[in-house]
Parts: sequence; C-alpha cells; structure tokens
Amino acid sequence: MKVFFRLLYNINGGKMKDNEILGIIKEETQRQNQTIELIASENFVSRNILKINGSILTNKYAEGYPGKRYYGGCEVIDKIEILAKKYGSELFNAEHINVQPYSGSGANAAVYLAVLKPGDKVLALSLNSGGHLTHGHPLSSSGILYDFHHYEVDPLTNLIDYDELEKQALILQPKLIVGGASNYSRIIDFARLQDIAVKCGALLMIDMAHIAGLVATGLHPSPVPYADFVTSTTHKTLRGPRSGFIICRKKWASIIDRSVFPGLQGGPHLQTIAAKAQCFYDALQPEFKVYQNQILKNIKALESEFKALGVEIIAGGSDNHLLSINVAKTFGINGSEAEKLLDNYHITVNKNTIPYDPNPPLKPSGIRLGTAAMTTRGLKEDDFKLIAKTIFLILSGHVEETIKNNIETVLKNCQGVEKL
Ligand SMILES: *Cc1c(COP(=O)(O)O)cnc(C)c1O
Repeated sequence: MKVFFRLLYNINGGKMKDNEILGIIKEETQRQNQTIELIASENFVSRNILKINGSILTNKYAEGYPGKRYYGGCEVIDKIEILAKKYGSELFNAEHINVQPYSGSGANAAVYLAVLKPGDKVLALSLNSGGHLTHGHPLSSSGILYDFHHYEVDPLTNLIDYDELEKQALILQPKLIVGGASNYSRIIDFARLQDIAVKCGALLMIDMAHIAGLVATGLHPSPVPYADFVTSTTHKTLRGPRSGFIICRKKWASIIDRSVFPGLQGGPHLQTIAAKAQCFYDALQPEFKVYQNQILKNIKALESEFKALGVEIIAGGSDNHLLSINVAKTFGINGSEAEKLLDNYHITVNKNTIPYDPNPPLKPSGIRLGTAAMTTRGLKEDDFKLIAKTIFLILSGHVEETIKNNIETVLKNCQGVEKL
C-alpha cells in the first residue's frame, strides 16, 4: 500500500521532480537497448509510428464514426480514420474493418458483446493449450459473462485435434467457436474450423493477435475468408502501435460498430488510429514481407540449434514467429527459474504453461520465445543460433565468460530502439 501511494504521488511535498518521467523513459530506453528481447508478443515500432502515436491527435474527441461524429471539428480527424480503414481493408481483404478498439482484449470483448447474451455457450482453445485469457478465463469478463468451454491440443503431438474438437462442438452446440492462440507454434487450419462451426450452427471468431504480420504477408493462411469475425492486436508481429481492430463480414458491420462504440468505448484514440493507418500502410510495402520472412528464418535457426542441443520443443518446432521449450524436462528447472536465470543476462522471455503441464501456473514447465522483436532490431540466423547456444549454457547452469561474450556479440549487431 505504501509503495502504491509513493508511486501515485511520489511523496516529495506532493510534487513530482521536474523531468522525473523523462528520466525514467531514458532508463527504459537503455534497458531495451541492452536486452535481447524474446517475448513473443513484443516488438519495436518505427520512429515514424512512435512520432504519430505521440502527436497532437491525442487532443481530439471524436465519438462516433467518420461523417457521424458527436463532436464538432472532426473534418481532419475523419480523414485519418478513413485512411486507416482503407489500408486495413486492403491489407487483409476485409469486407468491413473497425479500427477503434483500444486493444486486442477490447476487440474480443466487442465481438462477444455483439453476438452473445450472458450465459451463451462458447468453445475456445484452453489457456494451457495456448489460448488467451480473453478466451474464457474465469477471471476475465469473457469467463464471467459467458459459458466458455475449452478444447485442447493432442497430448502426444501438441497439435489441435480437429476431430476431437468437432465431436465436442457437435455435443456442446456453442453459439460461437473461437480460434487463434497466444502460444501455438503451428499453422491453424481455419477452413476446418469453419467447417466445424457450420456443422454445429456456430459463428466463428478467429483471434489472430500474434500472427497478424504473417497473415498480412501471406506467410500464414488468412482467417478472413473463413471467419465471421477476425480480431487482432496491432503491436505483435504486425509491428504497429499498442492497439486492436476487428474485421467482419458486411452483414455484421453495424452491430460490430455499435458494440465498439457506444457498447464498450467512448472517444477513439485518434493518435493510435493514425499510427495504425501507418502500420497497415507499412505492411502493404514489399519490405514488410522481407521482414516477416526473416522472422520465420530466425525461428527456424533457433529451432534447429535447440534441436541439435537436445532441447525439447513443444509441438516439435514452429511454423510461425514463436516456440516454447520444455525447460523442466530438458534442464530440470521450472519456467519461473529459467525466466530469472535468463533475466540475469538481459535475455527476456516469459514463463509459460505447456499442454497438460504437471506443474502449477506460477512454476510452469516451459518458456516461450519469439523472434519478431529482435528481427526488427536487425538480427539474422547466425545471431539466433548464438542466442540458442547461449540460452542452453545459461539454463544448464554454466557461469562463463563465453555467455557474456556471446551476448555482447549479439547486442553489437542490434540497431538502437529509437532508430528503427
Ligand atoms: C495479446 C493477445 C490478446 C490481447 O491483446 P491486448 O492488446 O494485450 O489486450 C488477445 N488475444 C490473443 C490471442 C493475444 O495473443
């Protein structure tokens, strides 16, 4: 409590020291520059997006939608939202896109609010199998308001068992099936999910938060032709500002728009919508595909080096930007210990449960690693091989000069986070 009040008021005669926050931002910039960032959901935005997202657009209220605002003075602002919608629709071949959600969680909540009544049945991938909290965790509004049931991956292959899912769906008869994940390293078969949804009379929502950049460049199949609703973040592989969006079929357009505003949100964050427009525009350029391809080359480098070292990879490897390793089995430590050991050397990862994890959530068996962020900073296959070797040395309990030298070598190849 004391700490909380100190944070809130920074008790110092009730006044914050001049430039205290700017000082902390400088400190965080240094931390980011000196870290090998492997958290699969993170990325580094371009200077351009940073500038737009910190612009005077933050000053404007614009409740409503272009041409139908509840405030005056929106004629310039409208151009921004129209552009964001144009580039977003073009990028994902969308019939309709809503670019106002503040985040991925908000985008999901808006779809639920649009099509579900409290207590309606939903079927989604379980958290342990790689799902997200907003897919029905008991502490999330999704789990509080709706009757979520979960499907799992196969215990042996760790792949989604579509036959089993179909059986479960036909018995449950859910109103909505949710596909997409936060920790699933293989291609998801959206056509099959659509087939299952049609068979049991359910609507289909695909949450592509993690893989949106790969989808945008055709390096992962797109869910858009198959799903009634596609939700996403913009800040993971898509490399845009911290935010979200929803794509849907034309017939759902007005109900989705009403659900976002006034259903869940008030004034849209125009500075972020402008940054989203820039992000969609950037993703339409040929260089973006080169970048996404490099993300995949880098995960393959990480994967092959781990395999050569005998590290157990969940689902046997990766088709996207992330993979999980079983540190309990490989190194005899839990994910939380692994996270701390790597943190000591400025390698940032997150602990993660693995499918059918025998260990409790705070001491899970795995860690999750992604290549999007460090690919943005310019790393290539050889760097990721060295990263895999170094992680192996650290987690097997070595304390050596080699580790420090390896990390220095990798960081020397990185561009600064303010210069991207
Ligand atoms: C990250 C993520 C979200 C949530 O996004 P926020 O912007 O953090 O709210 C939702 N769904 C999936 C699958 C995610 O990975």
